[in-house]
Amino acid sequence: MEDLCTQPLTGPAACISERAGSVMTAGKSKSGIHCSDDSLAGAVSQRACVFCGARVVLNPVTDAVHLVHGPIGCATYTWDIRGSLSSGPEMYRNSFSTDMKERDVVFGGEKKLAACIDEIVEKYHPPAIFVYATCVTGMIGDDIIAVSKAARSRHGIDVIPVESSGFISGNKVVGYRAAALALMQLITPKDGETVAPTRDLNFLGEYNLGGETWLIKRYLKEMGIGINVAFTGDSTVAALKRAPGACLNLVQCTGSMHWVALQLEKTFGTPFMDINFFGAENTAESLRKIARFYNDPTITARTEALIEREMTRIRPVIKRYREKLAGKRAAIYVGGAYKAIAIIRQLRELGMEIVLTGTQTGNKEEYAEISSLLDENAIVVDDTNPAEIERFLLEMKVDVMAGGVKERVLAYKLGVGFVDHNHDRKECLAGFDGAVRFAKEVYLTTCTPVWKYTTGTFPGRT
Ligand code: SF4
Repeated sequence: MEDLCTQPLTGPAACISERAGSVMTAGKSKSGIHCSDDSLAGAVSQRACVFCGARVVLNPVTDAVHLVHGPIGCATYTWDIRGSLSSGPEMYRNSFSTDMKERDVVFGGEKKLAACIDEIVEKYHPPAIFVYATCVTGMIGDDIIAVSKAARSRHGIDVIPVESSGFISGNKVVGYRAAALALMQLITPKDGETVAPTRDLNFLGEYNLGGETWLIKRYLKEMGIGINVAFTGDSTVAALKRAPGACLNLVQCTGSMHWVALQLEKTFGTPFMDINFFGAENTAESLRKIARFYNDPTITARTEALIEREMTRIRPVIKRYREKLAGKRAAIYVGGAYKAIAIIRQLRELGMEIVLTGTQTGNKEEYAEISSLLDENAIVVDDTNPAEIERFLLEMKVDVMAGGVKERVLAYKLGVGFVDHNHDRKECLAGFDGAVRFAKEVYLTTCTPVWKYTTGTFPGRT
């Protein structure tokens, strides 16, 4: 490993030489970025583990029990970390664990798991239980598939194994796939079951962190379109089982839900389209795309009226923030590429220069799109780490960073403004009002006078 302190702060160089292919300059790379791979051992990746990847996708199913089969430590990843909102059931806010101890590790935890499921069914009567494998249960070889199947026959409810042992990959995306398989198992009709077709659509890759599902539901209702079920924000087991009846699947978080959309198309013939409700321009484009699918003059007219009204309302506000923020330098590091692309567009609408962009889970095509949106000297990073973020924030003289909880402290410590666009935020950043809220947050953190008392003390900043 190279010593960070001996490297000159010029040009985009990875802090660890083995990561050289994962860092590039937007306008200069011929071969594209190295991505969609396991994290480099020892690199202190900002990613979470495979189990956490599965949990973020499934936990918003509000009336299901989420049972973590493993030591209690894994179960700390709960609703409090991914605070999606519910309009009804609150079961998902409980944290259930088999709390494996040394004895279970030595002699196996299957009996304990079966007993836990029985106890949960007796006390809480949930419509479904997701059983998550963790590192320990994967390593000792507990057969969660067999235990779940037996519990399903005993209790007559869905008991669905989620094969999410943390060690099976160094890439959180593998956890998304484990969750997707579990979802498909839940929603595929069993023998003799049928699902009635509907003109409503499914909204995939929306987790209702700050009420986004509800906001988009309001827009679509105004257009004359209903949401059949969102995957998985504010969803219930019964609503998810109606998913095969939808006439269209919208995909927002492509990293977690593209595969599910493909499966729904293959299995039930439902077409899908990518949309993005972060940013005013993205929202308008997405609403128009949906209206085109329905090809109904009334829906088209309502859509145009909605967009015109909302854009007229927010345009002057965005313009005021743009006057304050034009020319400021921004960095982005988020989980999914769809979100990075949306934030790039939003910051550009605010007249800002994006000098660094990265994601935890982007693929080659998504990075090509990111690069095409950036100035040629901007840095692009895949699956980065604190040392690289620190290096580039200082080297690129960043004024504000958009990221998640793991980047927040780093930015503040370096005297850089920070705007939260991740799991633990409470503000709705989607749609037209979300665009205004985001602009306000960027303005407040970038232009707060506090930085003039701190930035001079950090190396590399002026
Ligand atoms: S023990 Fe494994 S499954 Fe549990 S939180 Fe750690 S990496 Fe994830």
